[in-house]
Amino acid sequence: MQGTNTKRQGRIVEANQSAVAEAAGILRGGGLVAVPTETVYGLAADASNADAVANIYRIKGRPDFNPLIVHVPSIEAARELATFDDRAIMLADAFWPGPLTLVLPLREHAKVAKAVSAGLSTIAIRCPAHPVMRVLLSKSGLFLAAPSANKSGHISPTRAEHIANSLGDDAPMILDGGPCAAGLESTIVALRETGWQLLREGPVTSEQIHAALGATPLPLADEKVEAPGQLTKHYAPTKPLRLNADEAEAHEWYIGFGAAGGDDNLSPAGDLAEAASRLFDALHIADASDRAAIAIAPIPATGIGAAIQDRLKRAAAGAGG
Ligand code: AMP
Ligand code: MG
Repeated sequence: MQGTNTKRQGRIVEANQSAVAEAAGILRGGGLVAVPTETVYGLAADASNADAVANIYRIKGRPDFNPLIVHVPSIEAARELATFDDRAIMLADAFWPGPLTLVLPLREHAKVAKAVSAGLSTIAIRCPAHPVMRVLLSKSGLFLAAPSANKSGHISPTRAEHIANSLGDDAPMILDGGPCAAGLESTIVALRETGWQLLREGPVTSEQIHAALGATPLPLADEKVEAPGQLTKHYAPTKPLRLNADEAEAHEWYIGFGAAGGDDNLSPAGDLAEAASRLFDALHIADASDRAAIAIAPIPATGIGAAIQDRLKRAAAGAGG
């Protein structure tokens, strides 16, 4: 069970000081809490508590081969869990706190439940910037395993209501911190002995990592999908989704961008960061509309546009299924 008071499950509460203090207590007691971050909302639990971590997998319906990201308050804390080489220190210095997850060698005797890293010899770690998540980390004194707070394979939540809709009766206490600023999951970079790999595109662009490390990424081996953010079908709405649509057909809900108008518009000004922050909310709204299908305008692939296109491709592949 999450928490001690089952009547409080699924409650959306404003993320004020007393609510965050209560949430920290729930986490210390082995319960789960949904928490805003600058990327998307997370379903958080004590990363060292095997039962709490098992509950994350159960509630999300997440396959157990799909490891979780551990959220930490600082680089120093992260170094208790993973081995940092010079490149890792450089990236953490440059992008933490922020939307970059590093996949690094897991330290022996690190205090994380086995299921967190799904038996891999590496661990995914991020130091988040969102003030609510940061206070929760410091008040609980825990490292928090926190995947996106949605059923596995579905659209990630960027608003508190999305979580209640996706997780239903299984939703734990939800700290409402308003809409997420970035709106897309973190960039995931793995540091290997021979170079680096981009396991998931996100708010920190591949170009930024390239500039920081001074090297191009290593290719991903097709035969082994290590990060399920790479799965072809992911982030999927329940209705068919048509990409690069210049206009909609009668049965389609049209998500526009820039001057393209639409039933909804990711950014009338054509701003890609705004479009990223609105993308999942727009898909949630489209899914709930009275139209049978969804069409979305072309989005340029520059900057964070690459991550938007990545999510849309996977969403379209899994849509309606
Ligand atoms: P989510 O928590 O839903 O944002 O998904 C976390 C992502 O991090 C998934 O794509 C995981 O596969 C990936 N991930 C977590 N740990 C590792 C790891 N040790 N190696 C590679 N990918 C990882
Ligand atoms: Mg997810």
